This record gives sequence, C-alpha cells and structure tokens, in this order.
Amino acid sequence: MARYTGPRCRLCRREGEKLYLKGYKCYTSKCPMEKRPYPPGMHGQMRRAKMSDYGIQLREKQKVKRIYGVLERQFRRYFEEANRRPGITGVNLLQILESRLDNLVYRMGFAASRAEARQMVRHRHILVNGRIVDIPSYQVPVGARVQVAEKAKQHLRVRMAVEQAAARGAPEWLDVDYDKLEGVYRALPSREQLDPNIREQLIVELYSK
Ligand code: SF4
Repeated sequence: MARYTGPRCRLCRREGEKLYLKGYKCYTSKCPMEKRPYPPGMHGQMRRAKMSDYGIQLREKQKVKRIYGVLERQFRRYFEEANRRPGITGVNLLQILESRLDNLVYRMGFAASRAEARQMVRHRHILVNGRIVDIPSYQVPVGARVQVAEKAKQHLRVRMAVEQAAARGAPEWLDVDYDKLEGVYRALPSREQLDPNIREQLIVELYSK
C-alpha cells in the first residue's frame, strides 16, 4: 500500500499546526514548528492572500489525511463508506480512521507515532484476537484485542513508547494493559473524545460538491 515518504515536518509547516507525526521530537524544542511556524519553501514567509472556502476545505482534508497517514484514494473510499453508514458522515469518517490498526497501535501507546505503528504492523509485530495482522489499514472491530507479539515486547522503542504512554494514560475508549502490552478496543470514540481542532464538516462539504 502506498504511503507518503517525504519529510514529515514539512507537512506540519504546510498546515500551519503541529500534527505530531514524528513521536518524541514533536514534544521537544527540536520541533521545526517551534522555530519556523510558516509554510516551507522560498515564499513561505510571504503574506498569503485570503483563502477561499474551497481552499479552507481542501486544507482541512489534507490535514486529516496527513494526521492519519492516508493517501487520497483510500481517504476518498473512507468518505464513501462513512456516507453510506447511518449517522453523521463526518463523525463516521473519523471513527473509520480511528479504527485502523496502525492508529490503534499508536493510540494504545505501543508506538510513538502512527508511522512507527504502521511499521510494527508491517513487520508482523501485532496480533488482533490472537492472529498476526500485517495490514496497517485493517479495520479493527469493536471488542477486538490488540497485542504486541512476544518477539517485539523487548524492543527498546516499544518499551520507550509504552513508558511514555503509561504516564499519559490511555484514551477512554480503549482498555490497555501496559504490562502485558495488549489492549481492547472497547467502543468507537465519540466526537467529543476526538481532536476538537479537526473540522470534519469542511471535508464533508468538499466531497459533497
Ligand atoms: Fe510536526 Fe512533530 Fe515535525 Fe513538529 S516535530 S513539525 S509536530 S512532525
């Protein structure tokens, strides 16, 4: 499955906010958004013309795609699926993104970033309900148990990620056992539990044109 392989910090600078794509570095003064909080490139510091409604919607979509590490085609498919489901399309879209296996591994704290979580999944270090799943986009059903494989439990980066996650605590919709390195996807997150800075309605408007 295709993925973005360019410099990730540029994406934050492009969107004008921290998207937390690099794990530990995002929480330190080394984060480029601390020193250069303007778009990358030669004209990055020039004053921008006021953005059109379309431009605002487009930027919001790009931001969410980048946060979850999803490319356009798959994102569009998620939107279509969200639109088919009963309920609010924007919330459905966020719940589909949250149910991706790489996202859950990150949310449970077994990896420091979604990119790292994705790599763990690809390297067959993650089990769902006792079976290895190596597809980062796999939609984890509510109630499923996600575990770190035995061989990966001693990996330094897993240990470091878990240490930090245990100090932060797990999101309410997950049950995580930091000693056993496993967790249960207890319920779909409600809109109130997710990032208030995401304006999913703009994405729905963009795709509904
Ligand atoms: Fe974004 Fe993290 Fe890079 Fe900062 S360090 S610019 S938050 S990816």
